[in-house]
Amino acid sequence: MASANPHKAVEIAAVLAEAMPAVEIVPRPPELGDVAEDGETLADNALIKARFVCAAAGEPSIADDTGLEVDALGGAPGVYSARYAGPEADSAANLAKLMAALVDVPPSQRTARFRTVVALVYEGAAPQLGAHEHPSVERPHVLAEGVVEGAIAMAPRGDGGFGYDPVFVPREAAPLTFAEMSAEAKNRISHRGRALRALLAKL
Ligand code: IMP
Repeated sequence: MASANPHKAVEIAAVLAEAMPAVEIVPRPPELGDVAEDGETLADNALIKARFVCAAAGEPSIADDTGLEVDALGGAPGVYSARYAGPEADSAANLAKLMAALVDVPPSQRTARFRTVVALVYEGAAPQLGAHEHPSVERPHVLAEGVVEGAIAMAPRGDGGFGYDPVFVPREAAPLTFAEMSAEAKNRISHRGRALRALLAKL
C-alpha cells in the first residue's frame, strides 16, 4: 500500500480485506521516504505514488489520490486539495480556508463532490533498478475512479474521519457529515470505497 496517510491506509485496508481476505496488505515502509505529488491530475498523482513504492519494494502497489471539488469555487481545490492553504498546510488550515472562501455562499449553492482515483501498479521492479528508478517509469497498471456527491456544511461537525470530513455532507447520508459517520458507513458510500470496489471489479 503506497499511501503514507494512516487514515487512508485504514480505510483502504478495510475495503480490500472484505473483498480479498487472502491478500496481505502491507503498509508503506517509512524508510522509503516521500515522492513529490506533482502531477496535474488525480490519476497522475496516484500513479506517481504507486510506481514509486512498487519500484522500491518490488511488490504490487496500490495508491489513491483524492480531490474535493466545490462547484461554487469552480471545482477548486480539486487536485490541489492537500495544499489548498499552502505547501505546508495541515487539514485545519485547509478547512479554515475553505470555510472562509464559502462564507457568503448559501446552503443551496454549496454542492461539492469527493473524487478518488486509485492506481494499482502490479509488476515489481528488477532488483537492480529498485529504489533508484524514476517514479515516472511506465509499468503495467490499472486505474479506477470513485465519486461521492454532497455539499459543504455551514460549519464543521463530528470527530471521526480526517481532512475535510467534518464539512462534507454526502447526499446519501444528509444531514450527517462524514466525520459524524462510522468508518464502515463512510466506506460504504465514500469516493475511496467506490474507487476501490471499481478497481476490484476491473481486476
Ligand atoms: P491526497 O489524496 O492525499 O492528496 O489528499 C488530498 C486532500 O484531501 C488532503 O488534504 C486530505 O486530507 C483530503 N482528503 C483525502 N481523502 C479524504 C477523505 O476521505 N475525507 C476528507 N478529506 C480527505
